[in-house]
Amino acid sequence: APSTISDLPIGPAPVSVKYTKLFIDGQFVDAVSGRTFETLDPRNGEVISKVAEADKQDVDVAVKAARKAFDHGPWPRLSGYARGRILLKFADLLEHHFDELAALETLDNGKPLDLVKYVDLPMALRLLRSFAGFADKICGKTVKIDGPYHAYTLLEPIGVVGQIIPWNFPLIMFFLKISPALAAGNTIVLKTAEQTPLSALFCASLLKEAGLPPGVLNILSGFGPTAGAAISSHNDVDKIAFTGSTDVGKLVMEAAAKSNLKAVSLELGGKSPMIVLDDADVDVAVELAHLALFFNVGQCCVAGSRVFVQEGIYDEFLRKVVDRAKRRVTGDSFQSGVDHGPVVDKQQFDRVLGYVEIGKREGARLVTGGCRIGSRGFYIEPTIFADVEDYMRIAREEIFGPVMSVLKFRTIDEVIQRANDTAYGLAAGIVTKDLNSANRLTRSLRAGTVWINCYHVFDPALPFGGYKMSGIGRENGKQVLYQYSQVKSVVTPVESPWL
Ligand code: ADP
Repeated sequence: APSTISDLPIGPAPVSVKYTKLFIDGQFVDAVSGRTFETLDPRNGEVISKVAEADKQDVDVAVKAARKAFDHGPWPRLSGYARGRILLKFADLLEHHFDELAALETLDNGKPLDLVKYVDLPMALRLLRSFAGFADKICGKTVKIDGPYHAYTLLEPIGVVGQIIPWNFPLIMFFLKISPALAAGNTIVLKTAEQTPLSALFCASLLKEAGLPPGVLNILSGFGPTAGAAISSHNDVDKIAFTGSTDVGKLVMEAAAKSNLKAVSLELGGKSPMIVLDDADVDVAVELAHLALFFNVGQCCVAGSRVFVQEGIYDEFLRKVVDRAKRRVTGDSFQSGVDHGPVVDKQQFDRVLGYVEIGKREGARLVTGGCRIGSRGFYIEPTIFADVEDYMRIAREEIFGPVMSVLKFRTIDEVIQRANDTAYGLAAGIVTKDLNSANRLTRSLRAGTVWINCYHVFDPALPFGGYKMSGIGRENGKQVLYQYSQVKSVVTPVESPWL
């Protein structure tokens, strides 16, 4: 694509990389094969460092370590309170390294440092601390069954958990996955995304000091079809939790079924509707729709990528949402005030620009953006298509980049039907002052989260997950602890005649 403005001034990275090996059984080790891969700085496409590349053999070693830590180690046998204390200590140690960890996240992912400091890292710490507090409150129930019996359930950890995470929120995804699994007493083999291995490895360096026994949390850097597939098809992994694309989610589930029927939870793609009704304050609606799509340069599974605007305010909304997009601040992600960084890598960059071409070919009206910014790194202009039709690929497929599709609708019945006409069901947004309309839409939308007059609000206490092909299971809240626990039912006579 042609460059629209001259190259952005990109400064040197204000952080150095200390940890690049695999973290297995409490040690940093090279891959068995000795192989490494490069991780790149999305601001300029330059190599940051080489990182050990895990393959099937390394997965085997890591699963053995996790198995040993589960079957014979202290972790599942500690009290919940003792586990919680270790997790809280870990959180404190991370906080002592806040600036270094934040900078590393920006360097590897490209997202603005401001964002990491106000959103990613604080949320990561909240996840860890929130689930640390849950650790001593995970418990079963007593059940009054028929007959002279005393019956109750025990919640036990599942065992060795495999976790595979994506690159869009490397730290948040890491803590979203490990916090509840560790609180519940499991041991873990986690694979980071090949685009963003660095922040998790930095976290690993503090685990020993926090007091986590070796083998409890093993962290592998590597690719999906090799290391990822080896985890999901491993016969000694008891559960797999995956976040990523729907296509890969299917592969993970298939591998789980074909190997040992390990339990599966999936958090997959989305094509979330953002519905703006005629009665809305247009400026508020513009701000929310902008946030819903352009936050994290659109690299969010919940991105509000189909903006349905009611006809009465469509033209005004469109004019204002374009103005707003033009005011996004692009630049070196380490500079304060920048809110629009690069996308994560060349592959995403090509994919997103490919969708811009598809949108044009399909006849959608490109009203702003559509080009790369500069000639270095992976910066893409905030892009908006108007007059998008439901059948177009840009309205059906997940783009995962800064490309908004605006669609016009007339009635609420119509928008309910169109918003639900998707294979996904992760999230939805509604902007209105009318309580009746909000309630009606909320009940009718088939989505795991509905945001009314807000967007992107997450909390460790609030369940999160998808309907339909957006996933299986829920993360966060109490729900997730059941996904990391087995339920054992126990029955004994209240007074045994044989004792
Ligand atoms: P994204 O579009 O976010 O990159 P992916 O689903 O491709 O989503 O990647 C998410 C995670 O899944 C990454 O850690 C990636 O390495 C991993 N992955 C990719 N392919 C496979 C696979 N066949 N089996 C297991 N994990 C995979």
